[in-house]
Amino acid sequence: MLLEINDIHVHYGKIAALKGISLEVDEGEIVTLIGANGAGKTTTLKTISGLRPLSAGRITFDGKDISRLAGHKRVLAGIGQSPEGRGIFPGMSVADNLHMGAYARKGDLSKELAEVYELFPRLAERKGQAGGTMSGGEQQMLAIGRALMAKPKVLLLDEPSMGLAPMLVQQIFSIIEKINERGTTVLLVEQNAQQALQIAHRAYVIETGRIVKSAAAVDLLDDPEVRAAYLGGD
Ligand code: ATP
Repeated sequence: MLLEINDIHVHYGKIAALKGISLEVDEGEIVTLIGANGAGKTTTLKTISGLRPLSAGRITFDGKDISRLAGHKRVLAGIGQSPEGRGIFPGMSVADNLHMGAYARKGDLSKELAEVYELFPRLAERKGQAGGTMSGGEQQMLAIGRALMAKPKVLLLDEPSMGLAPMLVQQIFSIIEKINERGTTVLLVEQNAQQALQIAHRAYVIETGRIVKSAAAVDLLDDPEVRAAYLGGD
């Protein structure tokens, strides 16, 4: 297993946001975590990347216990995150934003940069433009591209389709598939459960801080409870 989360508990003050979450991501997979607003999806990703401390439980990555490892060391270990709300540097150019993604790595970055520009031709066209003046969809691409610059083993994606026009939503999901086909494991958090389940291999459903279901993604697409709660029912 590349990433193993074992019974983690996370609190905001006295509020328990995660009440014993366990999940696994194997090398090469796209795993999606779906759930309603406030269920704990973002908190789960932030805890994996080290932005939130856990109060109990264990996270193992690449065979090592990283539960107490500082966030920047997790990036070096191979955990890349594209956060919800993008978090790009608005005053810096697209190219400089991308370079920031690999700040901890020394040496020539031209190969990584070329790969990101190939995945996202729009970023290549706009490399000199300030990040903050890019459209919502372009900023999303930039945030994913920046995370890829660090050559992560696993890419954590928080709501990559949020706020995008339908055509761009399709585009972002097919790019995620492409990133995965090229060898990066993906843990994807999405409100857009339909699309997420279509590209994922496996899925977990989270409700108020607990995993209530896990299965192959295709099976969840047909699951009556999941259909009713997350896929608009029928
Ligand atoms: P959304 O899709 O709306 O972002 P989510 O599934 O990602 O939802 P989280 O953001 O992980 O949910 O939130 C889980 C719970 O923790 C929620 O009840 C939320 O109100 C609470 N929470 C999140 N961040 C904080 C915070 N900074 N302080 C207090 N409570 C918080």
